[in-house]
Amino acid sequence: MKDTIREMFPILREKINNHPLIYMDNAATTQKPQQVIESISSFYKHQNANVHRGVHVLSQRATDLFEKAREEIRVFLNAASSEEILFVRGATEGINLVAASFGRSQLKPGDEIILSEMEHHANVVPWQMLARELNFSIKVIPFHDRGELDLEAYKKLFTSRTRLVGVVHVSNVLGTVNPIKEISAIAHDHGVPILVDGAQALAHEKIDVQAVDCDMYTISAHKAYGPTGIGALYVKENLLETWPPYQGGGEMIEQVEFGKYPLFSGLPYRFEAGTPNVAGAVGFAEALRFIREIGYKSIQNHEKELLAYGRERLLSIPKLTLYGDAKEKTAIFSFLIDGIHPLDIGSFLDARGIAVRTGHHCAQPLMTHYGISGTARASLALYNTKDEIDYFVECLKEMVKLFI
Ligand code: PLP
Repeated sequence: MKDTIREMFPILREKINNHPLIYMDNAATTQKPQQVIESISSFYKHQNANVHRGVHVLSQRATDLFEKAREEIRVFLNAASSEEILFVRGATEGINLVAASFGRSQLKPGDEIILSEMEHHANVVPWQMLARELNFSIKVIPFHDRGELDLEAYKKLFTSRTRLVGVVHVSNVLGTVNPIKEISAIAHDHGVPILVDGAQALAHEKIDVQAVDCDMYTISAHKAYGPTGIGALYVKENLLETWPPYQGGGEMIEQVEFGKYPLFSGLPYRFEAGTPNVAGAVGFAEALRFIREIGYKSIQNHEKELLAYGRERLLSIPKLTLYGDAKEKTAIFSFLIDGIHPLDIGSFLDARGIAVRTGHHCAQPLMTHYGISGTARASLALYNTKDEIDYFVECLKEMVKLFI
């Protein structure tokens, strides 16, 4: 990737512990290009007002920008209608919305849902909380050690009581890109809707909700060069129409009277109670424009090169184990070095300006699969370089010499 792309990210000029920043924690959150930062700043300087309620000029400007952002997301995901795009705080809230609205109103005692063994806690815990309340059960799609879902086992999990499949598009630990089109088709063969957690996909994979034919798809802006605190949930309109509202309050009603049940707004507003994160939506739309301008093809070509190069370099380190070697994967390296605690790896690298994450990465069932409690994880994005990988590997080699 060209240097001009790195120059678009002001934070990449930071020094950390007297070293140039090498940011390899992109699965946790990505850095933001100048145009996203500017779009948010410009919103507060020139357009800030609350949306939907005002007749004054600023309120109309803010409303236009907010609805334009929704349209930008619709086009980006190739949803059929902007009424299918709900603004949420992020993937976590998107899944909680599905659990609270669809789950609480439609799941019954004795029902079953199917999740995968490689889910982030965001797509596990909301269902566990609801399962305790409603008495349904959760079945789990296992994965093979190299990090690919066992689709034969998946097919056998369906019964007449299966009501939902929930699966991550791209694993935040292994980088596996799951075949969600195939997984969707299998769910639909059984008449079961599918929810896809796309938190890790948006920055790396072209998403087309109609081509994949999933029923629900959720994303977080901050994982794809956008701001924190904003994301989107796509839900097919025919499903969304049958769901009760998620939260109550302003913006989501037509009429409220004491002594009567409120009359709710139409889609998508019925699901967006309260003042939304308007500045966040503006920054989110700008991040999508940024991705579109660069293009997934260039992003993927670059990241695939980094993946192949990094994999080879890391495997040259003695006593290093890499977790996740799926045929289709993003540039994420989860690893352990025999005899060194992952926390020590994180601190050693931080002292040299390299940001990686250590721990269970909110995927404890995945860790249980491997019989480990955590890993060190370097997750790359479009601005990372081979030189950075070289320095990262050099530091790890130095560490092995010192520690073992
Ligand atoms: N799903 C996956 C696969 C993730 O990696 C994450 C965050 O790391 C989430 C969901 C939750 O995203 P957020 O914290 O933006 O809601």
